[in-house]
Amino acid sequence: MNADYRERLKDKKRIVIKIGSSSLIHAETGRLDLRKLEILARELSDLHNQGKDVVLVSSGAIAVGAAALGMKGKPEELEKKQACAAVGQARLMTIYQKLFGEYNQMVAQILMTKNTMVNNTNRRNAQNTFQQLLAEKVIPIVNENDSVSSYEFQNLVKFGDNDTLSSVVAALINADLLILMSDIDGLFTDDPNSNPDAQFIDIVENMDDNMRKLGKSSTGSNVGTGGMATKLTAAIIATAAGADMVIANGNDFHNIHRIVEGRSCGTLFVGNKKEEFFLIDYIEKLL
Ligand code: GLU
Repeated sequence: MNADYRERLKDKKRIVIKIGSSSLIHAETGRLDLRKLEILARELSDLHNQGKDVVLVSSGAIAVGAAALGMKGKPEELEKKQACAAVGQARLMTIYQKLFGEYNQMVAQILMTKNTMVNNTNRRNAQNTFQQLLAEKVIPIVNENDSVSSYEFQNLVKFGDNDTLSSVVAALINADLLILMSDIDGLFTDDPNSNPDAQFIDIVENMDDNMRKLGKSSTGSNVGTGGMATKLTAAIIATAAGADMVIANGNDFHNIHRIVEGRSCGTLFVGNKKEEFFLIDYIEKLL
């Protein structure tokens, strides 16, 4: 049964891949890990060459901007975070364009806020843009529009973390697979950093409230925003929308093709489309 679930991953046609800040930058300096980014660009261009639609949700704007502006770690103040995001997002896209360009793969930038999803017109606009870009064989690269989405009214306008943003994107574009590349191998029965008896969970067939309790609010990384709790919220949204979701370790981006080849890698949450799934209800209830 478990093998069947993994086997199904080979046939996925529309895949959203989320990369956390901690998987993109050197922890010691906060600067980009270019070797890893090269592997990421090759993995995603190759998935696209296999005829799949690919969307990348990339964090890192604030961390990269902070390093560029000579700040030690991520700043606390709202204005500084927004300025960092403005600098860092442009840098990030420049590098992505260069690396994907090596494989003749066109990329595009889509910046969103929670408002983009809650407002009907904005949401349809975003959906149409994704559809058109995918039809044009482009890989859209998505991030939250951190420079304008205020943290002060976080619940109203800001997702705040790219785990939930990527699940919302997956639901919006009817993706059939969401891959979250994190700083942990997947879901454990407890925090493996503090409990050596914590067991790795290979497959989650039903994303119920008991599973959600396994979420801790942080993974211990000091660069990203999402912990396991946001990943489990993402799993609720993605699986209810009918997509499978995998949490895997972003220390090796080769894990991306291993997952899509149906190999045992990361924790797989099996998609289970809810007939009454209505994205806006989930956003209002959970985010
Ligand atoms: N949007 C933030 C950034 O690009 C990251 C949010 C997150 O860590 O999930 O810096």
